[in-house]
Amino acid sequence: MTTTKTDDNQVAPKSFRIILHQEKCIGAGHCVTCAPDIFGQNEDDGVVILLNDNPPPDRLAAVESAARMCPTGVIQVTKEE
Ligand code: SF4
Repeated sequence: MTTTKTDDNQVAPKSFRIILHQEKCIGAGHCVTCAPDIFGQNEDDGVVILLNDNPPPDRLAAVESAARMCPTGVIQVTKEE
């Protein structure tokens, strides 16, 4: 098994999952700025949509950044070690 080190020297998870609480989304769009390959917005109301429900582990940092930037806590990340 290959172990991957992240910038802060932690072992990267094998995979992670994203759960969206779309009912809380206000369409601010910070998530799309952080990870445009993973998050999009509904054309009608701007609510976040998941473009990739199985992102590779190397996108974890971008997704975690999106979760931090989201003003209403829509994005939940679950790591699978
Ligand atoms: S940053 Fe949060 S509130 Fe803004 S579009 Fe993304 S999920 Fe919705």
